[in-house]
Amino acid sequence: MTGYVVQNRILVTGGAGQLAKELLKLDRDLLAPSRNEMDVSSYDSIESYCAKGGVSVVIHAGAVTNKFNEDADEGYLLSNIIGTANVALWCRRHHARLVYISSDYVYPGERGDYSEESPVLPVNRYAASKLGGECSVLLVANSLIVRTSFYRELNFAQGCTDQYTSRMPIGEAAEAIYRLALREDVAGVINVGRPVPRSIFDIVKSEFNPDVRPVRRRDIAITYALPHDSSMDTTRFNNLMTEGTTASKIQSQCRICGSVTLDRYLDLGSTPLANSYVTRTDLSSPEFREELSLQVCTRCGLSQLTRVVHPDLMFKNYLYVSSTTATFRKHCEELARTSCRVAGAKPGDMVMDIASNDGCLLSKFQDIGMRVVGIDPAENLATEANAAGIRTLNVYWSPSIAKDVTARFGDPVVITATNVFAHVDDVHKFVEGVASCLARRGIFVIECPYVLDFIGKNEFDTAYHEHLSYIGITPLVTLMRMHEMDVFDVEYFADLHGGTIRTYVCRRGEHERTPRVAEYLERETAFGITAREPYRAFAERVLLNKRQLRELIDREVAGGKVIWAYGASAKGNTLVNFFEISDRDVPVAIDDNPKKRGYFTPGAHMRIAGIQELAGTRVDYLLLLAWNFQKEIIARCQAVQYAGGFILPVPVPTIIPDTSAGAPRK
Ligand SMILES: [Zn+2]
Repeated sequence: MTGYVVQNRILVTGGAGQLAKELLKLDRDLLAPSRNEMDVSSYDSIESYCAKGGVSVVIHAGAVTNKFNEDADEGYLLSNIIGTANVALWCRRHHARLVYISSDYVYPGERGDYSEESPVLPVNRYAASKLGGECSVLLVANSLIVRTSFYRELNFAQGCTDQYTSRMPIGEAAEAIYRLALREDVAGVINVGRPVPRSIFDIVKSEFNPDVRPVRRRDIAITYALPHDSSMDTTRFNNLMTEGTTASKIQSQCRICGSVTLDRYLDLGSTPLANSYVTRTDLSSPEFREELSLQVCTRCGLSQLTRVVHPDLMFKNYLYVSSTTATFRKHCEELARTSCRVAGAKPGDMVMDIASNDGCLLSKFQDIGMRVVGIDPAENLATEANAAGIRTLNVYWSPSIAKDVTARFGDPVVITATNVFAHVDDVHKFVEGVASCLARRGIFVIECPYVLDFIGKNEFDTAYHEHLSYIGITPLVTLMRMHEMDVFDVEYFADLHGGTIRTYVCRRGEHERTPRVAEYLERETAFGITAREPYRAFAERVLLNKRQLRELIDREVAGGKVIWAYGASAKGNTLVNFFEISDRDVPVAIDDNPKKRGYFTPGAHMRIAGIQELAGTRVDYLLLLAWNFQKEIIARCQAVQYAGGFILPVPVPTIIPDTSAGAPRK
C-alpha cells in the first residue's frame, strides 16, 4: 500500500465529539482526528496532519460548546474563532470545500422562523464565537455555513413549554450534513433543522420522558442568555433534501389533508415556467423545465400539481401587473366596498392584502378610508406600490410576518388574498398566519379560480407551475376547520379569470353561515369532486383539443397563412407549450403589457410585440391565447385596422371569420 494516497477524503474536526462519531457511522473512510492529533488553534498542526494529502472536503465541527458557561471565553476565542480561521485558511490555500457547523443561536432568538437572510444578533458569548467563525468561513470560495442545532439525549425531568427550536436528533443532523458536504453546488448559508418548531417540553415528552413536567422559562433559574424562539425557516434545506438535484419537490401527499391517495389525471409535459420570459441574449441557453401534471386528492377533493418548483424561481421578478385591465380595477373597487361592509369596518380600520402585487386592490380600500398594508415577495412590484403610496412589505407571508404586522399596525379587520391562494404550497402556514392576526370579528376573503370551471370549461391552460392548487369549496372548508375557521359565504364571478370563487372566512362562529355555502358543497358533491371520473373525462377532452388545434394550425401554415398570437400571458404559454406550437408556426405574440415587449415567450420563443405592429404587417390569423378577453381583444384589433381572422383555441378550436370582405373561411 506504500505510496497510495486516497483522494477526495472528508476530514471532520472535533473527532472526539458526538457529531464526528455519527458521521463515522455514515462513512468509515472519514478522517476524524482527535484534538491531540490535530489542534485547530494551531495552523501548523492542521498543515502537518493533512500533509499526507487527499483531503478535499473539511467538515469543521470541532468547537467549544459549553454554551452555558460564560467563563469559556478563552476557549471560544482559540477554538471557535481562531481555530475556524485556521481551518478556513487551510481550505483556502488547498482549494478544499469547507462546511462549517454553526449554530441557530446566531439569530436573535425572539420571534423564530428565521430565514438564512434574517439579520443575526448572537444572544450569548458562545453564539458570538460561532458567528466569529462564520465570518472567516465566508472568505473561502464555495464554503457552506450550516446553522443548526441537534440533540442526542434530553432525558430531562422538566422542559420549557415556551422555548422553541428547530432542533433535530443528532443522527438526522449528521446525515444531512454529510449529504450537504458532498453537494458542491450548495454554498452560502443553510438552516438545517426540523421544519416544524417544537418546544423543549414537546421534544422531551415525545422522545425521552413521557412524564416530563412542563415549566415556563420564568419558572427556572437561568443564569445565561437563552433565546426564547430560535426556530428557523428550513425551506431551503427541506427542498434540497426532498428534491435530489432539481429545485422542485414531489407532491406525494395532499397539501390540505395529508392523504397519499392522489390520482394523477393530466400530464401537460415538461414545460418551462410560464412567467419566465426570455431575453434575446438568453434565447440560446437552456431554460429551466419541470413536469406540469395534475392529480386530485380523493379524500378532500383538492386538485393539485404533482411537482412544486422552488418559489424563488417563480415569484421574485414578476412581469404581470394586475391593474392593466379596466375590468380588474372595477372588480377591486367592488371587492373593497363589499368586504368592508361584511366585516363592519369603520374608516381608519386596518386592511391587509397578501400578495398585493402593485397595490391596485389596496388603493381601492384606501379610497374608502381604510389604513392598508400589502405583502408581496416580488421586489419590483413592492417598490412600485410603495412609490405609489401603498405601504407594502417585500416579504413572503408567514406566521412570523403576521406577528410583525400586528405589532406594527394592529389587527386587520379585513385580510384579502386574491389570486394567490392557489399559488401557496404550505397552505397551513398561510392560514395559521391569517388566524393569528385577524381581528375577532374580522373576515378573510379569498379569491381564486374555481375548480369546477377549470374542469367543466376545459381550462387546462390556467395550469402552470405557480398554480399549485385547483380549488373548490369542499377542500377549503376542510382546511379552514383545521384552523378553527369557518367558510361563511361564497360568491361567484363567471367572467373573472374564466370563473372565480370568492370565499368569506371568519373565526369559528363569528359570522352566520349563508345558505350559499351548503349549495356549493352540494353542487361539488354532485359533480364528484372527490371522484376520479370527472377528472379523467376532462383529460380526454383536453387531449382531443390538442389534436384538433394542432391539425388546424398545421393546415393553415402549410397553406401559407401567417399566424400571430394575442396574449403572451402565463395561460398562453401553457397552451402553446402543451400544444407544441413554436415560433416556427407562430413567430410573434402581441401583448398589452409594455413591460413584456422585447422579451420572448418561454419555451415557444415567440417575440413579444405591441399591437401597433399589426398595422403594417400581413397577418392572416391571430391565435387568441387570452381567449377569456376575446371581445375586448377583437375590438382593439379592429381599432388598429387589423383585417385578418382569429383562431379561438379552446375548448373546440374555431376560426372566427375575418372582417374583410373576402369569402368566408372554414
Ligand atoms: Zn386532501
